[in-house]
Amino acid sequence: MSEERSLNFIEEIVEEDIREGKHSGRVLTRFPPEPNGYLHIGHAKSICLNFGLALKYGGQTNLRFDDTNPVKEDVEYVDSIKEDVKWLGFTWAKELYASDYFDQLYAFAVELIRQGLAYVDDSTPEQIAAQKGTPTEPGTGNEYRNRSIEENLRLFEEMKAGKYPDGAKVLRAKIDLASPNMHLRDPLMYRIKHAHHHRTGDQWCIYPMYDFAHGESDAIEEITHSVCTLEFIPHRPLYEWFIEKLGIFPSKQYEFARLNLNYTVMSKRKLLQLVDEKFVDGWDDPRMPTISGLRRRGYTPASIRDFCERIGVAKRENMIDVGLLEFCIREDLNKTAWRRMAVLDPIKLVITDYPEGKTEVFTGENNPEVEGGEGSRDIPFSRELWIEREDFMEEPPKKFFRLAVGNMVRLKSAYIVKCEGFKKDDNGNVTEVYCTHIAESRSGNDTSGINVKGTIHWVSVLAAKTVEVRLYDRLFRVEDPSSEEGDFKDYINPASLHILPQAYIEPDLANAVPGKGYQFIRKGYFTLDKNSTPDKLVFNRTVTLKDGWVKK
Ligand code: ATP
Ligand code: MG
Repeated sequence: MSEERSLNFIEEIVEEDIREGKHSGRVLTRFPPEPNGYLHIGHAKSICLNFGLALKYGGQTNLRFDDTNPVKEDVEYVDSIKEDVKWLGFTWAKELYASDYFDQLYAFAVELIRQGLAYVDDSTPEQIAAQKGTPTEPGTGNEYRNRSIEENLRLFEEMKAGKYPDGAKVLRAKIDLASPNMHLRDPLMYRIKHAHHHRTGDQWCIYPMYDFAHGESDAIEEITHSVCTLEFIPHRPLYEWFIEKLGIFPSKQYEFARLNLNYTVMSKRKLLQLVDEKFVDGWDDPRMPTISGLRRRGYTPASIRDFCERIGVAKRENMIDVGLLEFCIREDLNKTAWRRMAVLDPIKLVITDYPEGKTEVFTGENNPEVEGGEGSRDIPFSRELWIEREDFMEEPPKKFFRLAVGNMVRLKSAYIVKCEGFKKDDNGNVTEVYCTHIAESRSGNDTSGINVKGTIHWVSVLAAKTVEVRLYDRLFRVEDPSSEEGDFKDYINPASLHILPQAYIEPDLANAVPGKGYQFIRKGYFTLDKNSTPDKLVFNRTVTLKDGWVKK
């Protein structure tokens, strides 16, 4: 979007740091996903912010996988995350993993034990929780808190060596059991987990906690601005405490408001449920708020970056209307999508005064939004055409400018036709519409002098190809399914997918490629689904041409 928008508060901080010569003006950010799911549009906000800061201030961004929880993580997720970040248009300086630092982190923990600032605790999770106190009452210590440095060193080493079962012991920072900030009441640093890790295999059976791993990883990489979401504000004193006690690179944490989008859910845990319980067709189902889902739906990287720019970066959370995301993709596709004709709900139109067996070829610009139209394609025309069922009415209301007996319309890029009659089947459904054509009204060379109010799209029956079209609606029928009573899945919209098994496309669309947007004239923007085969093309509707959504 515009260059002239005012700075967001994080840009202000970065500019101030640069002015003061902090870190010699160097800017190094990181995007730190946990590889336990696919990225969603919320992550896109964080990606655009982190990479955007680096781009703007001549810096760099690391992609760091926060892979400290072996049980939920997987290489499939790592691969998808890399693909999505690249697709959004960003290039990371280094691909790194918190697990690369397990040796270093272990050494940092030993260092804190040596300083008397960490201890091994044998309590159960329940005992630890009970001894932590409440926000109004201080916690109570236990006998483990007074263990000697020697004993702690020995026990921690034994934990690492695999001497103890899961949950038997933890390593805790020794900070302040009376702190008003619960995160400072001797937080956990390490837990025992005899689990296979997707990168380190069975080398480790103790794994660092987020709070210990994250800041220390930032410091190891010498990250200058570590940007995260608001829920980490109470973690910041701990982030700073570890860095100060270890005397390592002083990375700083800054927090911004996460993106909340209505009519969807965004936590990976919930998205995983939708996938596992088959409410959707995988992480990249076009109804999912995942980046891969949006891509399959036909969103472009530019539209997502534009959306992230428009929502801005603030310190207070709010709910963004999904209509804004749809606005952004319409804006982009209006400029870039090639225009094509497709009939989604077909009914046959016969031009009775047009010779059987004759075909003509009309041409249509690919993209009337740009000069030169980005070339054109041939559109075959014949006596029998498919048109939309809704473009004919037996008993039209006033101001119906499409087909009804006696009405004239223009067939897009071809002739003006006049409706003369129609045929019905035994059930009273219209099966054919009959027209005559005005031979002098050829599009581009119209000498008929006739003005018509309506233009409709069509596809030649002889040349049409049959395809499947999928129309999507919101995945949930309430704005904020997570805040409703009961399970969020109770609020799934049962009509979020509408399949049209027999739609007709003009022949040129058989050359469609996934990732390219097409405007089906009057019907919306569409893209080829990645699971299409040459025998069965499937088109996904990305978005309608106008915002036609009404609250139910
Ligand atoms: P979720 O809660 O959806 O599982 P997460 O925060 O656990 O997400 P991470 O992989 O840890 O996911 O997130 C990587 C980065 O993306 C973090 O810096 C996190 O703050 C940021 N992020 C996650 N969700 C959002 C969101 N909705 N808006 C903005 N940033 C987000
Ligand atoms: Mg997380």
